[in-house]
Amino acid sequence: MLAQFLLNYTQMTKRKAKLGKFKKRSICRFCKSRKLIKFLDFGYMPHAGNYLKPWEVGKEYYYPLRIFFCKSCGLIQNLDIISSETLFKNYHYLSSVSLTKHFQEYAEEVKKKFLNENSFIVEIGSNDGVLLSPLLKMGYKVLGVDPAVNVGRIAKKKGINVVFDYFGVKVADRILKKNGKADVILANNVLAHIDNMDNVFSGISKLLKSDGVLIFEVHYFPDLLKMMQYDFFYGEHLSYYNLSTLNPFLNKFNLEIFDVKKMSIHSGSIRVYAKFKTNNKLKIEVSVGKLKKYECGLGHVDEKILKNFDLKIDKHRVNIKRLLLGIKKSGSRIVGYGAGGRANTFLSTCGIGNDILDYIVDESLERQGRFTPGTHIPIVSPEIFRKDSVKYVLLLAWNYKKEIIKKERAFVKNGGKFIVSFPGISMT
Ligand SMILES: [Zn+2]
Repeated sequence: MLAQFLLNYTQMTKRKAKLGKFKKRSICRFCKSRKLIKFLDFGYMPHAGNYLKPWEVGKEYYYPLRIFFCKSCGLIQNLDIISSETLFKNYHYLSSVSLTKHFQEYAEEVKKKFLNENSFIVEIGSNDGVLLSPLLKMGYKVLGVDPAVNVGRIAKKKGINVVFDYFGVKVADRILKKNGKADVILANNVLAHIDNMDNVFSGISKLLKSDGVLIFEVHYFPDLLKMMQYDFFYGEHLSYYNLSTLNPFLNKFNLEIFDVKKMSIHSGSIRVYAKFKTNNKLKIEVSVGKLKKYECGLGHVDEKILKNFDLKIDKHRVNIKRLLLGIKKSGSRIVGYGAGGRANTFLSTCGIGNDILDYIVDESLERQGRFTPGTHIPIVSPEIFRKDSVKYVLLLAWNYKKEIIKKERAFVKNGGKFIVSFPGISMT
């Protein structure tokens, strides 16, 4: 870990790269304890969502990326906070690109279980309206809250009313005044991004009806650990959740988890259903006890396990780098596939730059023609890749492995090989 830290630091000084603005937190985001143990240190990393235009290459800002474990409540967290303005004002992640089916089914489930014809639904972090859009079509009154104007505009075009702001007590008050209390509050893949969780949950407890339901999806940390997904650590992700840490936090706001579902989305997530403790109409389902039990056994997280995780990551980084350098040495070229946030963490921390990968293929028009932050690898369209005779592809978007291999079957048919780095290193 130390060697990696020095490497990143040296690279930074060499390039005369600048340290970006960030805020340091000294107490736990959930329980305010100071007993915080650092178990991962990635050194200085560029903001993973900052895809560079050609003239911005080498001018990007760097931020420390360190991951801590709270000894008091167990929350896994990043305490170096990049300003929300830097991260989310222009957000380059559109949920509809790959997740439409997931959210369509989600909307149908919510309808079946919790809605009546007059229900009012609020979604925190509504992105491009991928979940609210089907609910609106079903005839419900919906409202989205999202600070990212560029993606929020897409939701507006679908007819969804969007408040362009960060959700908290103030926004909850504004919604209350105008629309009244909500029957259902949704928040998907957004709680990881929030530093002031107290403010968000105070807002939720004000806005939610006494018999209302809060439903949210978060990445599931025990799965991250099991699959060694260290590429999921980046500046945008401030907290990493499991049930054992979430429930006591929700209790502070008189809320409790009454159901939970494991989801395969993002390589391991949970959909959590919460209600007010005073609401006796909804029973606590067996799923809650089951997952709690899992977290006492195989899904357990403690200091020793986390320190061991750090050692395993080091080994993984060395192995993948060795494999890639071997291929290069034999005279073959390698390109990458999928330039998401995960890819940027992985490339930066493994030191895989434009000396190893000629380019990265990505479907997103917003990313094409740009360069990856820190590693400065050009991002190109799949059409360019399909005309190329390259034989090795490092599959950076490994969580979309099936879809990508299916899409690129001509490459495989011609003898091309996908190098997959997660969960274990393999070649397909
Ligand atoms: Zn804590």
